[in-house]
Amino acid sequence: RIVYVNGSYLPEEDAKISIFDRGFLMADGVYEVTSVLDGKLLDFGGHAARLERSLAELDMACPVTMDELLAIHRELLEKNAIIDGMVYLQITRGSAGDRDFAFPDPAVVPSSIVLFTQAKPGLADNPAAKTGIRVITVPDIRWGRRDIKTVQLLYPSMGKMMAKKAGVDDAWMVEDGFVTEGTSNNAYIVKGNKIITRQLGTEILHGITRAAVLRFAREAQMEVEERSFTVDEAKTADEAFITSASAFVMPVVEIDGAALGNGAPGKVAVRLREIYLDESRKSAI
Ligand code: PMP
Repeated sequence: RIVYVNGSYLPEEDAKISIFDRGFLMADGVYEVTSVLDGKLLDFGGHAARLERSLAELDMACPVTMDELLAIHRELLEKNAIIDGMVYLQITRGSAGDRDFAFPDPAVVPSSIVLFTQAKPGLADNPAAKTGIRVITVPDIRWGRRDIKTVQLLYPSMGKMMAKKAGVDDAWMVEDGFVTEGTSNNAYIVKGNKIITRQLGTEILHGITRAAVLRFAREAQMEVEERSFTVDEAKTADEAFITSASAFVMPVVEIDGAALGNGAPGKVAVRLREIYLDESRKSAI
C-alpha cells in the first residue's frame, strides 16, 4: 500500500513519524475518515469543513490547503486502485523534540499529516444492514469536547470491547440518563414515523453522515426531532439506527437485550439507508 506522510507518497513500510510527535505521546491530533464508493469520495466537503473546525478549536495549523488535501485523497485512491473503501487522514501537532505539556510554537514546529487508504470491497452491501446490529449501553466517561474529532479513541475502543464481550456489535454511550452516541457513530430512534436524534452540542461528534441523513429525511418530508432520549425510551421505540461515514445508515434491532419492533430492521432505517446511498453516490467527487 502507498501512504502519504508529510509531503511524500511512500510504501507503508517506509513511512516514518517521530516518536516525539505529540500525536503519539499525548493523543494531540485530529482525524477524518471519508468513504469511497465506485472510486469516488462521499461528502469530501463536509469532512474538510469539520477538519478545519477541529483544527481551529485546538489552535492547530493545517499543513495543506483543502484543495491540496482533495488532490492527495485522489492520488492515494489512484495509487492504491481503491474502488470501495475509505481514506483515513490524521493531523498531529508534531513536536519540538522533548516531551512538554505546552504546545510548541506552530511557526517553528509544523504539524504532521498522514493519510492512508483501506480497501473494503462491497462496502455498500454490508450484510449487517439486512439483519441489523445489536447494541448494549455503557456509561459515557469521555472528555467534554466530543465535538472535536480527536484521536483520543481509547474509551470508544473499550466500549467496542465491552460490546464484543457481551456478544453484540456495538455500544451506545449514556450520560446523565441520556444516550449521547455510539462508540463511532451517531444514535437515532424512531417513534411512529418520527426520527429522533440527540441535538448537537459538545457532548457528541457532529457527524457528517448525520447532517446529510437529516437533510435527506427533511427533503423527503419525514419528521425529525433533535433532542436527547433515554435508554428506556430507546428500548421501547419502534426502530433504531446509527449513522457514520463507513456504516452509512445501519439499523439497530436490539438494545441491552430488548428487541425493537419485530426484531428486524425498521422501514424508516431501511428507506433512509437507500436514500443516503443514492444521494451520496450522486454527489460523490
Ligand atoms: N460519533 C462518533 C463518536 C464517531 O467516532 C463517529 C465516526 N467518526 C461518528 C459519530 C459519525 O460521524 P461521521 O458520520 O462523520 O462519520
